[in-house]
Amino acid sequence: MSEIVLRGLRKSFDSVEVIKEFDLTIADGERLVFVGPSGCGKSTLLRMICGIDDISFGRIYIDGVDVTALPAARRGLAMVFQNYALYPHMTVRQNIGFSLRVAGVERTVASERVVEVAQSLHLDHLLERYPRELSGGQRQRVAIGRAIVRQPKAFLFDEPLSNLDAALRAEMRLEVARLHSTYGATMIYVTHDQTEAMTLADRIVVLNQGRIEQIGTPSELYEQPANRFVAEFIGSPR
Ligand code: ADP
Ligand code: MG
Repeated sequence: MSEIVLRGLRKSFDSVEVIKEFDLTIADGERLVFVGPSGCGKSTLLRMICGIDDISFGRIYIDGVDVTALPAARRGLAMVFQNYALYPHMTVRQNIGFSLRVAGVERTVASERVVEVAQSLHLDHLLERYPRELSGGQRQRVAIGRAIVRQPKAFLFDEPLSNLDAALRAEMRLEVARLHSTYGATMIYVTHDQTEAMTLADRIVVLNQGRIEQIGTPSELYEQPANRFVAEFIGSPR
């Protein structure tokens, strides 16, 4: 569980500023969803928070600790990407347990935790399968399992469901919601799918060209969009 604070974050690629003076506080246990058109900076923001990308200016605090200079591995956050790259030569059990092995978690503790996580994601009957023997939804659940197993302070999701078909997306949306109610961890979720945003978020942040257009609860944004851009993005009747 953790509060994440972004203070004056900025990011440039080759002198082009893609994130502009960004301030935001994400409450402990909150489900925050970033939406916005392709190229507006959603993935860049997540990568900076996670520590995969360095930042040009600004600071990031997790539970009051300045983590700006900490590498990704020491920030205690878990990131799930859209193209869930599982290790093809490892079974589901090994995929989920790999990070625990790397972290030196004692073998019996690790294997119990892997089984618990697999059960919570309905993967326990698939533990000896290889990724190529799984459906898209099952693979995505393994990717989520790999994130959960380290008991991260927060989950960062970057369009995790966008490669799945509509029926599977609906099912996985429930899975993500359930994940949050089970673990209660802070969640930052990027999507360009309005339904996902409206159903998963405590608050939605609408981004446009590296800036915040509006922040609010799904109903606030729907009922009182700040401008036409937000209205069109959220699908309000305005
Ligand atoms: P989104 O995830 O919202 O689609 P991104 O965060 O991927 O947007 O990209 C934001 C902007 O930054 C885009 O204009 C993109 O072209 C640019 N960008 C992202 N990564 C790089 C990079 N490694 N080098 C140069 N430009 C990049
Ligand atoms: Mg992106």
